Amino acid sequence: MAAELAPDVVVLGTGMAGMCAATAAVEQGAQVLVLERAPTIGGSAAISGGYVWTARNLDSLRNEDAGEFQRHGHFVVEGYEDVKRWLTGFTPPVTEELPTLYGRGHKFDIPLLFGTMAGTIVSAGGRILVGAEVTDVERDSDGVTLSVRRDGETSTVRARSLVLATGGRQADPEARRSLVEGGALLPPLRGNRFSRGYGAAIATGLGGRVNTANKGFYGHLFAAGVEPIAPIDFIIFSLFQSSEGVLLDADGRRFVDEKRGDHNNAAAVAAIGGRALLLWSQDVQERVSTTPWTVGTPLMDRWLFSRDRGGRTASAADAAELVPLVREWGYELQTALEDEAVRGRIGAGRIFAAEVVPAVTMTFGGIEVDDAGAAVDGHGEPIPGLFVAGGDTSDIYHRGYAGGLCAAAVTGRRAGTVAARLAATSERVAAPNA
Ligand SMILES: Cc1cc2nc3c(=O)[nH]c(=O)nc-3n(C[C@H](O)[C@H](O)[C@H](O)COP(=O)(O)OP(=O)(O)OC[C@H]3O[C@@H](n4cnc5c(N)ncnc54)[C@H](O)[C@@H]3O)c2cc1C
Repeated sequence: MAAELAPDVVVLGTGMAGMCAATAAVEQGAQVLVLERAPTIGGSAAISGGYVWTARNLDSLRNEDAGEFQRHGHFVVEGYEDVKRWLTGFTPPVTEELPTLYGRGHKFDIPLLFGTMAGTIVSAGGRILVGAEVTDVERDSDGVTLSVRRDGETSTVRARSLVLATGGRQADPEARRSLVEGGALLPPLRGNRFSRGYGAAIATGLGGRVNTANKGFYGHLFAAGVEPIAPIDFIIFSLFQSSEGVLLDADGRRFVDEKRGDHNNAAAVAAIGGRALLLWSQDVQERVSTTPWTVGTPLMDRWLFSRDRGGRTASAADAAELVPLVREWGYELQTALEDEAVRGRIGAGRIFAAEVVPAVTMTFGGIEVDDAGAAVDGHGEPIPGLFVAGGDTSDIYHRGYAGGLCAAAVTGRRAGTVAARLAATSERVAAPNA
């Protein structure tokens, strides 16, 4: 890497938000430098299910997420059709549009998409550098100056605009612990291990605000004790079937409407301290073992897989038979079984059980932004030249979730476009209609 670089726009991160930001900036004619902390590009996006989706409309979004900090989710829903067309221009989706509970989307081949975007960036004179660590960032009226360490050398990069797209704070154990009531449990990470809150730290250092009061997160329930060793484990360990099961606290009480989905169940378990007992029936077990839960998820017996990998799991001929065993885990199942409604929901026949913990994919509390994706200062004013996208952005969601890839694509494309226009004019510009 040369000692001095002077691109128009620097983008930190090569996940969905960073790749979309860099590509959009290039489309505006900007010279772009993309810096990635990891030794490879892709972030969580590259190991994701690739399903670019969101809520069907704003009512569905509000119904899913009525949280007070859900401030920017409407951009995702309103931007879905346009960003889908834009992504399709790089590589067509691998499925037609498919429905989910309250939304719809297409599965994309993310490595192929990123390969095509990388080609676009580099063909336009941009650069993508992996293994690059930003050690210092300063800002003045003309832009930002970054110190970047790579291959044992430190270089200086000067740019008009900086886009933070580092994926959020979830790989920082303290950030994960803070999401769980009581702070006693360290929930597992379900995502790339490089998103440690660097974006938030840089924004704070430049006068930005981070909303840590938004404790929302996107994640799924894992059986207690499993340890992911490969990215595919993030998908196979996820007990999506909790939406058709029963979740009980230590006293044997239900505490959530499980039908709202496993991602919301994970948040509900975090809100009661991070542990719960999940039960489901033979009927549910057969369906989850023979039907992909979401587009492209592998057909696996998630209970068996979790058991074989050391997860706290059990099964018995009926729920009553599980009572003594789960008492050893710390759960009063007998109390729950005295309630007819709970018995009815658990179902009949062989019953499967797991003690579950929330595994965290992405924090919802992050860097506060305005409607153009600019980081804001303590007075709510945009910080010139500092833009935010994807998991780094605060308050896209709060108490629900309507797609991470679409959110990253919409906010990434927006940030890259505005960052490039600012670089071109050296003046503040309005949000694009991207
Ligand atoms: C197993 C799994 C399955 C998923 N499936 C889906 C799905 O089907 N649909 C969906 O909508 N969402 C899905 N998601 C969520 C989705 O992947 C994320 O919401 C999305 O990738 C967020 O995009 P991002 O660009 O903000 O973060 P990422 O894609 O994680 O990218 C962040 C990048 O920033 C890099 N970085 C971190 N720190 C620095 C730094 N200091 N300097 C430079 N670079 C840095 C990271 O290494 C990473 O490459 C899934 C996630 C996982 C883990």
